[in-house]
Amino acid sequence: MTETAEQTRVIGPVIFLGAPGAGKGTQAKRMVERYGIPQISTGDLLREHVSMGTALGKRAKEVMERGELVPDKLVCDMVEMRLNRKDCERGYILDGFPRTVDQAKWLDGVLAKRDFFGQVIPPVVVDFTVSYNQLFKRLTGRRSCPNDGKIYNVYFQPPKVADVCDDCGAALVTRKDDTEEAITVRLKSYEEQTKPLAEYYRRQGRLRSIDGEQASEAVTAQTITAIEAAR
Ligand code: AMP
Repeated sequence: MTETAEQTRVIGPVIFLGAPGAGKGTQAKRMVERYGIPQISTGDLLREHVSMGTALGKRAKEVMERGELVPDKLVCDMVEMRLNRKDCERGYILDGFPRTVDQAKWLDGVLAKRDFFGQVIPPVVVDFTVSYNQLFKRLTGRRSCPNDGKIYNVYFQPPKVADVCDDCGAALVTRKDDTEEAITVRLKSYEEQTKPLAEYYRRQGRLRSIDGEQASEAVTAQTITAIEAAR
């Protein structure tokens, strides 16, 4: 496969902020395709630990099912290991990390010491904003394919056949923390612990806010503009 110009350029760190259900995962997958850099989703990494039954997975499982945040130290150690992998050398999309001001401060320290082909590159921070009611509907309606990760929504983007992946035919699943009870807790921890990060990055002059309720293609176009204006 031939590489596009975007797939050889140095992008550096990109942070996707926004509530659960704001579209970070969907947009991150599109950026992975465009730039050939990895999506680092701390939620996905933690779910892998849970399904593999690692020590970290055992500590995280119940916290995640309740919709609360996993302790900073555990998540930061996991992210540090992931950033050391070779596929991060031109850049990466952080999806769902940082989620607390302490995680953001830790990340600032890491990024100040890390270079991309000799150059220290500050992060571009994209914040996808979506109203509470819309988030709630997106999360309760969310279904995903356990095989290829494709995301559907029973209200907005249903599969052709109910509960079956259009592409591979696998039975779709609902995440354990997409219950109404856990969603309420997740949106509350977002309001209290993650939302203040927008202000943190605004003060650094790094924040780019995008209306996440637009059609997803429009959100993608604006995300690309935000990333490329900074690089
Ligand atoms: P997500 O897939 O991003 O919605 O994350 C699912 C769950 O994983 C969250 O509700 C938290 O329990 C946990 N989690 C993911 N990222 C973080 C993070 N940066 N800090 C703490 N907990 C996290």
